[in-house]
Amino acid sequence: MGPGPSDIHPRVLNAIGRGTVGHLDPYYLETMNNLQEMLRKVFKTENELTMAISATGSAGMETTVVNVIEPGDKMLVCINGVFGMRMADVAERAGAEVLTVEKPWGEVFTVEDLQPIIEAEQPKVVGIVMAETSTGACQPLEEISQLVHANQGLLLVDAVTSLGGMNVEVDKWGIDIIYSGSQKCLSCPPGLAPVSFSPAAVEVLNNRKTKVRSWYLDLSMLANYWSEDRVYHHTAPINMTYALYEALRVILEEGLDNCFARHKRNHLALQAGLNALGFEYTADPNNQLPMLNAVKIPEGVDDATIRSGLLNRFGIEIGGGLGAFKGQVWRIGIMGHAARQSNVLTFLAALEQLLAENGYEFSAGCSIAAANSAFAHNE
Ligand SMILES: *Cc1c(COP(=O)(O)O)cnc(C)c1O
Repeated sequence: MGPGPSDIHPRVLNAIGRGTVGHLDPYYLETMNNLQEMLRKVFKTENELTMAISATGSAGMETTVVNVIEPGDKMLVCINGVFGMRMADVAERAGAEVLTVEKPWGEVFTVEDLQPIIEAEQPKVVGIVMAETSTGACQPLEEISQLVHANQGLLLVDAVTSLGGMNVEVDKWGIDIIYSGSQKCLSCPPGLAPVSFSPAAVEVLNNRKTKVRSWYLDLSMLANYWSEDRVYHHTAPINMTYALYEALRVILEEGLDNCFARHKRNHLALQAGLNALGFEYTADPNNQLPMLNAVKIPEGVDDATIRSGLLNRFGIEIGGGLGAFKGQVWRIGIMGHAARQSNVLTFLAALEQLLAENGYEFSAGCSIAAANSAFAHNE
C-alpha cells in the first residue's frame, strides 16, 4: 500500500512466468499489436503512435521530452512536487531552455497561474504532472490544454500514477504527449512505460532538424519496430510485455468506469478512517487523488516506528514523504489491485494498534467504524 510498486494481480504474475519467445516471433508481434490496441483504450485515444517503452516511468518521461525537444527549444514545466522537479531536470539535460512555474506542494495549477508566462514566452512544450505522487494532488487538465493550444504549444502530461486508477482522456482533453508506468494503477511489475503521441506531436517528431539525443529512446527507430516494418532496435522485454498485456486485459474486463469507481470507493473509506483519527491530508481537498493518500504525520508520532511496525508486524508497506515532505508525511497507496476493502480495513486496524502503543490518543475503533460506514454509503 505504498506509492508503487503496487500489488501485482495474480493473473499478471502468472503471465510473466510464461515461456520467452523471440522478439520477432509471430506470437510476440501479435501480442505487441494487441497491447497497443489496449493501451489506446486505456489512454482513450486513437493515436497511432501509442506503445510501451522498455523501461520504467522515468524513461517514459525522458522519451517524451527528448523526442519533442531540440536544443534551445522552450519548455515550461509546472512544479508542485518531486515529479515536476524531475521533469525540469530531464528537460534541461535534453537541451531545452527550461522555464518553470511553481506552486506550493499539495496545490494545483489554474489557468490564471499559467496564462501570463505561456502568453509571454510561447513555449513549444508545457509539461505538467496529472497525479503528483509526492503530494496526492490531482491536476485538472482540460482548461490548461485549451490555453496551451491557443498559444500553439504542445501539452505533455505525466500520467504515471493516474493511468488505470482514474479517468485519463487523451483525445477529449487534447493531450499531445503522455507517458505512464506499469507498476502503479496498472498492477504490473515495474519495467514498462506506456506512451502516446497525438498527430500534432508526431508532426513535430517528423520535422526535427537534429538527432534525438538518446539512442535508446529515439522514437523514429522505436516506431519502426512497433510498426509493420519490425526493424530490430533492442531486444524487447518479452515477459514484461506479457505482464502488461495481461494487466490491461484485467482492467478492461473489469471495465474502466468500474475500475475508477473501485478506486474512489476505497479512497473515500480510507479517507473517512484517517479523518476519524484526526489526520490531515497534504493536498487541497478539492483536488485529492483517489489512489494516493498523503497525510501529515501528527505531532509526537514517530515516522519510522509506525512504518516499520506496519511492515514488520503486519506485512503492510506504506510510503514515507519525498523531498520537502521527508519525515513529515505518509503516502498510502490504493493503486490497482491494492484498492480493496480488505486492504483498507486491515491497514486501519494495524495503524490503530501501532498508534495506541505509541501514545497517540483517539477513540479505539473509530477509523474502522468510519471506513465501514463510508463503504456502506458508497456501494
Ligand atoms: C513513480 C512516478 C514516476 C517515475 O516512475 P518510475 O517508474 O519510478 O521511473 C514519474 N512520475 C510520477 C508522477 C510517478 O508517480
